[in-house]
Amino acid sequence: MTDTTIPEARPAVADRFAREGGRNRFTARRATVTGVQRIAPPLVRVTVSGPDFADFTSGGPADHVRVFFPDPVTGELVAPIPVGPGADGIVRPDRASISRDFTPLPRAVDGGFEIDLDFFVHPDPGPASSWAESARTGDQLVVLGPRGSRRAPQDLDGLVLICDETSLPSASRWVRDIPPGTGVDVIAAVQGTGDWVAGYLGQVPGVPIRVHLARPDASGAGVLGALADLPPIGPGVFVWAAGEASALVPVRRHLRRTLGLPAAQAQVSGYWRHGLVALDHHAPIDPTDPD
Ligand SMILES: Cc1cc2nc3c(=O)[nH]c(=O)nc-3n(C[C@H](O)[C@H](O)[C@H](O)COP(=O)(O)OP(=O)(O)OC[C@H]3O[C@@H](n4cnc5c(N)ncnc54)[C@H](O)[C@@H]3O)c2cc1C
Repeated sequence: MTDTTIPEARPAVADRFAREGGRNRFTARRATVTGVQRIAPPLVRVTVSGPDFADFTSGGPADHVRVFFPDPVTGELVAPIPVGPGADGIVRPDRASISRDFTPLPRAVDGGFEIDLDFFVHPDPGPASSWAESARTGDQLVVLGPRGSRRAPQDLDGLVLICDETSLPSASRWVRDIPPGTGVDVIAAVQGTGDWVAGYLGQVPGVPIRVHLARPDASGAGVLGALADLPPIGPGVFVWAAGEASALVPVRRHLRRTLGLPAAQAQVSGYWRHGLVALDHHAPIDPTDPD
């Protein structure tokens, strides 16, 4: 007998990414550095932990925390404090502080969590990069958030990640948060040979990870060339791009206008911008065409 059942319409992939969220207890945690390691030529891994991390939660591959650093001159750490033990909320400092966004890479340990923070050491480093380069065991930070987590969609036909050195930490979460059988193409626009990228992402059982190295440039030509070499992006494939904001403007235009991908299927996020201190990643990367 012929099956006349109409298949249930598949919602656009990123709609599911947006909906399947979770709220974490929003607080400021005192963090002590327990390890510092040059994990790849341009990346310093700083591991932090402490009693405040006993209930740390972070369920989304694109989660971020706001990290507060000591003043490089005075050494004073100005940062928010929790409203109370176990409570949700913070009290912001009444003085200027130094903070930047980073991707938490949590690891369960006895009685809580350790968090790896992988810092790209910028060629012209700001306070965060400079701090990471000279970080030592026992140094103190304050880690705020993550406030919310959007879980990776679990029924993708494929995933395309477009990254630079600052968003590869998130890529390393993406490849572990999707189910086995999902193929991932990682376009890595990094300086130098990039021969470390595949090793940095590691292997995930059942998840084929194909790394395509691209030249990082403001025109986006390297990334666009790598995209052109991929098979056509079907409706079940999700594209996530993050990194240097100026270079992502032409990439975003290509995804949206040339390929016609809806915002729900192609998400592009500026993580930093050449020549700009502490980019606000909530601001549209292309002000002429905001979402
Ligand atoms: C959601 C999210 C997650 C992120 N995750 C990570 C992560 O896991 N790892 C990571 O490395 N980064 C991550 N980033 C990016 C990180 O927040 C930025 O790279 C951050 O700005 C670095 O801080 P900084 O103090 O080193 O540099 P900033 O002071 O913020 O400066 C950034 C850039 O501006 C330029 N600049 C600054 N001052 C000057 C100056 N005086 N003259 C010329 N140029 C200057 C430089 O090009 C410098 O590289 C993330 C960002 C977001 C939004």
